[in-house]
Amino acid sequence: MPMNLPELAAAVFLGLVFGSFTTALVYRVPRKQNWVLTRSSCTSCKSALTPLDLVPVLSWLFSRGRCRHCGKGVSWIYPLIELCVVGACLLVYRQFGFSTEAAFIYACLPFLAALTVIDFQKMILPNQLVFICFAIGFVRLVYFSFSGYFLAAADIVVPYIFGSVVFGFIALALRHSISFAVGREALGRGDVKFFLVVGLWLGLSSLPLFFIITGVVGVVMAVFWRMVVKKRQFPFGPALIAAMFVLLLLQGPVLK
Ligand SMILES: [Zn+2]
Repeated sequence: MPMNLPELAAAVFLGLVFGSFTTALVYRVPRKQNWVLTRSSCTSCKSALTPLDLVPVLSWLFSRGRCRHCGKGVSWIYPLIELCVVGACLLVYRQFGFSTEAAFIYACLPFLAALTVIDFQKMILPNQLVFICFAIGFVRLVYFSFSGYFLAAADIVVPYIFGSVVFGFIALALRHSISFAVGREALGRGDVKFFLVVGLWLGLSSLPLFFIITGVVGVVMAVFWRMVVKKRQFPFGPALIAAMFVLLLLQGPVLK
């Protein structure tokens, strides 16, 4: 992938904007707030935030992590999220540049990032965010089927649509068998729904590799969760999302 400076700067800029959008989702979606039309305001003093307060990462650094109006601390998690999204955007750029395939992945990034953080914080994968990732994946298939990448409709239906169903069924089977084995809910309903998204984006051929990567990431995270957070239940969504992202990058431009 050719790297040039203006494009690289554009990828960083995109990452900052998407990172900022992700933090809005992380705050608003679990609180059932409208995340499309609400103006950003300080969560403690409610004063509306000006453009000066909304520069990703920098505003937080210059105000030393405090609200400029009331002085209340703003969690370091928000600039960290923004930086992680910038990193993810740069990885997508490195693999795909600004191709059409990249556009679909960029569009999905804020929602994937928000799902990851919300699952860590609240142990849920909100339906609306999962649905948006599914919808973007579906539009991606429709777009590429009309752009002539797929030779026949069966090329889409079998690996991706069928893949989505297969991923969902395996997840459901895992949920029931593991829950039965350990005697408590093992794989959440949100996780099962997210498997449908993974199948739709990656297709059937990625299934074995996906389960291997998810398993490895999941075990590492479970151990970390036990040692650091010291809770029995641990969120599985971040492992699923990390594995999906890694495979999207690794499998290269499936759709040109
Ligand atoms: Zn304030």
